[in-house]
Amino acid sequence: MAQVRTPIGPYERLSAEVHEWDPRALDVAARVAELVAERRPDLAVEHIGSTSVPGLPGKGIVDLSIQTTPDDIPGVVAMLYELGFGPQPGPDPWPPTRPMPVGSLELDGKHYRIHLHVQPVGGDFPRDVAFRDALRNDPELRRQYEDLKLGITSGGAVEGLRYTHSKTSWILGVYRRLGFAPPAISPPATIGILGGGQLGRMLGLAARAMGYRIAALDPDRSAPVAAVADRLEVGAYDDVAAAQRMAAGCAVVTYELEHVGPAVVAALDVQKRPIRPGPYPLKLTADRLAERRFVEANEGRVAGWREVAGPESVVDAAAELGFPVRLKQIRGGYDGRGQARLDNTLDIESVDGRIAWPALLEQDLAFEAELSVVVARNVDGICRTFPLARNRHDRGILVESVVPAGVAVVTEEAAANLAIGLATSMGLIGTLTVELFLMPDGALVVNELAPRVHNSGHWSIEGAVTSQFEQHLRAICGLPLGSVAMRAPAAAMVNLLGEGAPRPAHPTGIYQAHQVPDTHVHIYDKATVFERRKMGHVTALGASPEEALARAREAAAHIGWAPTTEGSPTEPGEPAA
Ligand code: ADP
Ligand code: MG
Repeated sequence: MAQVRTPIGPYERLSAEVHEWDPRALDVAARVAELVAERRPDLAVEHIGSTSVPGLPGKGIVDLSIQTTPDDIPGVVAMLYELGFGPQPGPDPWPPTRPMPVGSLELDGKHYRIHLHVQPVGGDFPRDVAFRDALRNDPELRRQYEDLKLGITSGGAVEGLRYTHSKTSWILGVYRRLGFAPPAISPPATIGILGGGQLGRMLGLAARAMGYRIAALDPDRSAPVAAVADRLEVGAYDDVAAAQRMAAGCAVVTYELEHVGPAVVAALDVQKRPIRPGPYPLKLTADRLAERRFVEANEGRVAGWREVAGPESVVDAAAELGFPVRLKQIRGGYDGRGQARLDNTLDIESVDGRIAWPALLEQDLAFEAELSVVVARNVDGICRTFPLARNRHDRGILVESVVPAGVAVVTEEAAANLAIGLATSMGLIGTLTVELFLMPDGALVVNELAPRVHNSGHWSIEGAVTSQFEQHLRAICGLPLGSVAMRAPAAAMVNLLGEGAPRPAHPTGIYQAHQVPDTHVHIYDKATVFERRKMGHVTALGASPEEALARAREAAAHIGWAPTTEGSPTEPGEPAA
């Protein structure tokens, strides 16, 4: 079949490299404007971005922008596709409410790549034009921008998204000076939370203290968040209609777990009500393969891994990686569920049927310690990392965390920089937790990313000037970040895990636990207790990590779960009221 030649050619996604300004970019912009004017004389095509500013180096892509009504956007996109433009490739395309078709134009043998933003009225079009005009008119601003770009790429090529998001904080500062500050979300606005477990509950408690209202989505009417939510929509994490009901009236939507259905995320991703930390961080971290590729593309190390289609390919892949290995489900695993350690070929048979294929196979690492770092990134692209925590797991489930982690200063700094780089590259707004293995040679290996607050950050509730929950809320509401300084030389957290058969949950030993100095007991008020279920946690402060941990362990050891539901348990040693 003969190819129909369109005026606009195909687009190729490449790494970002900084080139000198090319005056022909103006001709490219003018040519596209002509092509659009022939079809839609009512639309104006503005040339924006670095190629529109004489003398400014950039990655050479010609950015153009059209503003129209939200209803007209599909029609404009269809017209652009007729010209030869196509959908935006790459892992994090603009949503259909503000799409960015891409294409290319050949001019005197040179190939120019084009990004054509289509913006709804009320969107970013006026801001982008004002930014361009400021750069055109102010040589000092131009010089600063040039230095920034050259600094990010240091003369070489970098991954496109990392390049884009690394410029955010400087650009946002300029936008603010031009009068285009993103308005902060102020109380009593409602914050929507997808997921109503203990993380949702603690986010809700912090949000309430700050004056915000809470709506939440959870399949369980008596989920831990219920006690602090103004509104709870009962529905599964992939129930689009329930999610939309939950989000109605919310100023921002966040999530407390990675396992939210992609259709829910797409339905909630509208310009006026952001979903934060963002659709892309969620998509990446819900898929262990995508997560590993992302870490590797962003200068992080991961354990050697293979994608495996079924038990037969595990045999070959394990031979390449070397036993012991770990088989992990690609989606949906948590607290060590959905994974198995394989010590030899015989173990492989035992896992089939217990794991969804395809799966991830990776080397089981003999690490020295498990560490984690929580980083917050706000709408201005400014990042702040909490001190590194040292974590202990039991059969895949976190049991305790202690801060400081007692590692070399260079390790602490490397972990913080890694977390900032990853948060920046995914354009995240909120908190990101990076789970790490510290190897015997001092290297850091990334185990897992969570675009949210995390169990290993609970120490910060009483241990840091700003808790991870308040920090997440500050970030998603467009507020300045708080101090991450510690309130004591050391802090620790010990989880309260359930034991025994499922039964109504009544904690025992609460009185004795509260006798331990500098210790705080947090109970999640889950209706039912069962073996290894996360029911609460204890935090403690101390003069040293050892002291803080000893206090938290002592208090946690007092707490158990009543065997029956009969009556309300009275504690031995508790003074009569
Ligand atoms: P989850 O989503 O359940 O937290 P993780 O991948 O973080 O899944 O695994 C849980 C725990 O299992 C880790 O914190 C660690 O203790 C152990 N683990 C996971 N992967 C490896 C590995 N490659 N080598 C050694 N231990 C591992
Ligand atoms: Mg984990």
